[in-house]
Amino acid sequence: MRDKSTSHSAKLPANGKRHAVPLRGGQRIEVGLLGATGAVGQHFVRLLAEHPWFRLTWLGASERSAGRRYGDLPWRLAAPLPEEIARLAVETLRAGSGPELVFSALDAGVAGECEAEFAARGHWVVSNARNHRMEECVPLVIPEVNAEHLGLVERQREEKGWRGGLVTNPNCATVGLAMALGALRGFGPRRVVVTTFQALSGAGYPGVASLDAAANVIPYIPGEEEKLETETQKILGTIEGGGVRAHGVTISAQTTRVPVLDGHTEAVSVELEGAATREELLEAFAGFAGEPQALALPSAPRHPIVVHERADRPQPRLDVESHGGMAVHVGRVRPCPVLGWKFVLLSHNMVRGAAGAALLNAELLVARGLVESPGTEEYAAAGGD
Ligand code: NAP
Repeated sequence: MRDKSTSHSAKLPANGKRHAVPLRGGQRIEVGLLGATGAVGQHFVRLLAEHPWFRLTWLGASERSAGRRYGDLPWRLAAPLPEEIARLAVETLRAGSGPELVFSALDAGVAGECEAEFAARGHWVVSNARNHRMEECVPLVIPEVNAEHLGLVERQREEKGWRGGLVTNPNCATVGLAMALGALRGFGPRRVVVTTFQALSGAGYPGVASLDAAANVIPYIPGEEEKLETETQKILGTIEGGGVRAHGVTISAQTTRVPVLDGHTEAVSVELEGAATREELLEAFAGFAGEPQALALPSAPRHPIVVHERADRPQPRLDVESHGGMAVHVGRVRPCPVLGWKFVLLSHNMVRGAAGAALLNAELLVARGLVESPGTEEYAAAGGD
């Protein structure tokens, strides 16, 4: 959508419906959370508190937190901690315990092994961590861009012998770029130069020392540039011969940390194979939609990309929390004398770049019947998508 009165509606598929999966008797699916005590973990708790399909009943973290009541641990969000969750005791990460569906907001130092153990023991693990994202049999999914990659989980049974499955969402800076390029896929993105201005919350808690961060720009985030360059190619890739054939777009990324609380801003220049006018690009961004919008999944924004026409937008402080933090904001679309076109984008690193992204992936797993819900059978019998 566009941010002013000239905006037009996204081209939503005609079968859009609210909360596509009926839950029998209002019974929600029980879910667990690995890494419940961290920065991303707390956003999961916040978003799950009022989720129409999922009910958070199990929390896991390190030995440092295990055995303690969640409400007795530090809570760092402005939103109140729900009493039902505050009462839960934090558990150690023992695969086989906890519900079938678990989200992971684990530190990368432990996520690799722990998530694999949970998947092997029959859990569906919907992860934020980087560890498994680039494995051939692991879907790296943004539901609006590459929902069809979910089919890769079949290979996990054969190749890893897992009884459950593992699905990942991209790095918090990758997600905005991949969604914007996904919207431009029809024009054939060929080369991209991107510079990011990434929020402090992206480094977890306590993150970057205040004396390093205040009134400063830090021109290095370890491993981040490689993730932007390679994850985007995988996400935009096509399924061929049972695997992902990476998209051929060449990406050059520079990533920086800036004193912003939430929201990653990115300055993007792109060379397209096909000719495009500015109006066509704006239409492609504003009209972008996918399976989450067709199915009206609970966490899906009606407009995944919001196009701003004011020259001084988007800005993290003004725009990042709108649309529940699930929209990518695009502005300043204009010609680039080097690559053809350039624009600025903004996305919420803790929501669309982390907890919200994983929730949307899990909703897709349920809507597709991969994870069973109390209403899955009725949904299939009624001819659900
Ligand atoms: P964080 O604040 O450091 O939280 C890490 C979590 O992992 C905590 O719950 C911690 O539990 C747990 N943990 C650490 N060491 C452990 C161990 N040895 N055994 C068991 N649990 C352990 O990090 P974060 O920013 O929330 O990030 C979590 C994950 O999401 C990371 O993999 C990160 O790369 C990814 N991610 C982050 C963002 C973002 O914008 N922040 C975006 C996308 C993805 P204790 O509290 O008990 O130590």
